[in-house]
Amino acid sequence: MPVTLPQDLLPGQLIARLDDVTLADGATAGIRFVDGRVAGPVITGAAHTTRLVGRLAEPDEATDVAADIDAAGWLLLPPAADMHAHIDKAYTWSLFGEPEGSLDDAVACWQQHGAALREEQIAEHARRQLDAALRAGVTAVRTHVNYHEGGDPLRGLRAVLEARDDYRGLVDVQIVAMHGQLTDDAIIRDAIALGADLIGAAPHLSDDPRGEIHRAAAFAESAGIGIDLHTDETLDPQSLDLIDLARRTVDWPAHMTRSAGHCVSLAVQPPARLAAALDAAAEAHVSIIANPLTNLYLQGWDHPRAMPRALPPLAAILDAGIVLAAGGDNVQDPFNPLGNGDMVDVAVALVLAGHLPPRRAWQVVAAGRKVLGLPPATGAIGDAADGVLVRAASVGEALAERAPDRIVIRGGRVVATRSTHTTAAPLRERSELRI
Ligand SMILES: [Zn+2]
Repeated sequence: MPVTLPQDLLPGQLIARLDDVTLADGATAGIRFVDGRVAGPVITGAAHTTRLVGRLAEPDEATDVAADIDAAGWLLLPPAADMHAHIDKAYTWSLFGEPEGSLDDAVACWQQHGAALREEQIAEHARRQLDAALRAGVTAVRTHVNYHEGGDPLRGLRAVLEARDDYRGLVDVQIVAMHGQLTDDAIIRDAIALGADLIGAAPHLSDDPRGEIHRAAAFAESAGIGIDLHTDETLDPQSLDLIDLARRTVDWPAHMTRSAGHCVSLAVQPPARLAAALDAAAEAHVSIIANPLTNLYLQGWDHPRAMPRALPPLAAILDAGIVLAAGGDNVQDPFNPLGNGDMVDVAVALVLAGHLPPRRAWQVVAAGRKVLGLPPATGAIGDAADGVLVRAASVGEALAERAPDRIVIRGGRVVATRSTHTTAAPLRERSELRI
C-alpha cells in the first residue's frame, strides 16, 4: 500500500492508518482505524518507501480502499463541538443594516428585523454555517432556535430541522427551542413535538428569572428532555440564576442535560458567592458553556474605562469539577458581526482573554462531545476514529497560526478538507520586488 500525504486527501477517502502523527499531548504515534474506531498502534515496517503525490481520487471515484497516511508534521486534535450556536440568526448582520451595540441593542435589532426573515432564508443561512463549521473541524453543534416574530413562529425551527437532516452523519446537530417570557405554552409543546431536543430560555432578560427557570424545567420534565439556558449573561453581580438552575435540577436523573450558557456575572462575584455558585452547579451536574467571542463583543459598552472581559472564571469552573465547554455563539449577526463558526477562534479567545493554556483550551472546545454523549476522540485505543488533522507541531502552534490546513475525519473517513495556499517570491528575488 503506497503511503499518502495528508495534503493529498479528498473528502470520502477512508483512512487505514496515520503514521507518525502528533497527538494533542505532544506524543508521536502510529494509529490504526478499523470500523470507525482506533484499533491500536501501527506495526511499523517499510511503509515509507513510496509516496503518492498529487490528487488521490476524484470525488466520484471509489474511495473504499483505505489509505495509509504519512502524517509526520501533522497534529491530530479531537474534533471541536460548538455547544452554543444560533444558526437561525446567522449571516443577518449585513441584511439588518450592519448594527452595533450591546446585548440589549442586538435583541432590539433582532426583534425589529427578524420578523421579515423567511423560512427558506433561515435554512440557507443555517446550511452555510454548518458547512463553515464542518470545514473548520466542528462535527457537533448545539444550536438555540428562537420562536420567530411575524408569521409562523416555528419557521426557524423547521428551517433548522431541515438543515440538520442535510448534515446528518457529518455534523451532529442538537436543537434548543428557546422561549421568552411571552411565548405561549402551546407553541413550546409544538416545538417539542416537531423535534426540538432541549428547552431553552434567557431568565436574566425576564421580569421573573426564577419563574422562567422553573417554567423551562417543568417543560423539560414533562417531555423527558433537558434544558440549556442563557444564564446570567450580564455583568450585574446580583444576577445569579446559575444557583436557581442548579437547585431546580439537582434531583434530575443523569441523562437529563442541564447546561448554563454564558455565566458572565460569575466574573464579578466576590469569592465566597462565586464558590457557593460553583459548588451548587457541581453538585447538580450543571455543565457551563462559555461563549467568549460574543461576550467580549456584547458586554462592556457602558464601561468607558477598565472595560471588563465578560468571561466567566474558567480555571475556577474547571477546578470545581464542572464540565466546561464552549460555543462560537453568533455568526455575523447583530450579536457578533465577526463570528465565523470556527472554534479555533474560540480556543484562541479562551487563551488570550480567559487565560487557559492552549492545550486546556482545546480540551474545553472539544468537551461538548461529553455533554452530547459522544464517544471520546483522543486517538486512544477504542476511541472514535474522529479528529482534525492540522499542520502544526503543537496545540499552541495550531492556535497561534489559526491552523490554516485542516483535514476533518469522522468514522475513519475524510469528510472535509480546507487548505490555504499563499505565495511569496523567493528571498533572493525579493529585492527586485521592493520599491
Ligand atoms: Zn446565545
